Amino acid sequence: MSTKQPITPLDKAQRPLFLGIDVGGTNTKIGLVDNVGNTLGYTIIDTEEPRGPADAMKRVVVASKQMLEALGLKLEDVARVGLGTPGSQDIPKGMLIAPPNHPHWHNFPIVACLESEIGIGVSFANDANAAGWGEFWVGTGAKYSSMVLLTLGTGVGGGIIIDNKLVVGHSSFGGECGHMIIDPSPDARLCAWGGGRGHLEAYASASAVAMRAKERISSGTRSILTNSIKEITAKSVYEAAAKGDELALEIVESTADYLAIGITTIVHMVDPGLVVLGGAMNFGGTQSPIGQRFLARIQKTFQQLTFEYVFKGTTIEFASLGGDAGYLGAAGIAQADYHASQKKSA
Ligand SMILES: [Zn+2]
Repeated sequence: MSTKQPITPLDKAQRPLFLGIDVGGTNTKIGLVDNVGNTLGYTIIDTEEPRGPADAMKRVVVASKQMLEALGLKLEDVARVGLGTPGSQDIPKGMLIAPPNHPHWHNFPIVACLESEIGIGVSFANDANAAGWGEFWVGTGAKYSSMVLLTLGTGVGGGIIIDNKLVVGHSSFGGECGHMIIDPSPDARLCAWGGGRGHLEAYASASAVAMRAKERISSGTRSILTNSIKEITAKSVYEAAAKGDELALEIVESTADYLAIGITTIVHMVDPGLVVLGGAMNFGGTQSPIGQRFLARIQKTFQQLTFEYVFKGTTIEFASLGGDAGYLGAAGIAQADYHASQKKSA
């Protein structure tokens, strides 16, 4: 697996340089990024979650050194490091609290650990917030001063940037748009994380899409997915929709409606001007008729739910950086922190 970003040769790079690290459940991506968001080098390692965060950070430093050496560089050439990890976290304290898919990583001072291993200052962010900053810095949001990213994957994550500032919040919970309540009824769907009911994530994540399709088939709705009911994923729903399967198309459209409800609330609170849909679940994105139909349906439902001038002032678009948004955004947050501290000390 490699980065989809073009690799900029070192002699074209604009210094200072930053490392962006994006810790996922399976892989950890590491990118060397210049001052304007060009990728100069990239590597990926297995996270190996059960070996714990201290072991992972050691391997991140080894892999980073190897990547830098291949470019004729050293750690000393890096001005600052950005680290994105799944929540929950305490960002100011640099602590991992209880990331649900990292059971061996709970209550760990990951920033202090990485700083002592790598010997460079580390900026810390929630992974979806980092992806939001990546899209804002060099992706779909590059021409905007405010933006909200929704990441549609196993769960629904988010990143909110208002007036060029990332919203981290009081408990480092800022931008957790997936836990927004869109259905207050007592029998609303259960969120996979923490048992809350009616959260957007319980309706519009990839796992929720698969579950809603399975439920409809179990209750007798006809579909070409019937014979493979146990293996249904959001991707197979997309493929069935592309073949014209009515149930799959209905699931795609109802997912768009749920997202539009969430997006309306986000827009009514912070009026970002741009809402970006990222993550692995995009029903083919702009390249596919189903992805286009999904986006058009979100826009149409949003129009019905909001005010006309707000609708006209809001763009809803797919993300453009794919799986690279996380490491680019982590590097971008390090870049912003680096320049803010330079200004302060000047
Ligand atoms: Zn939730």
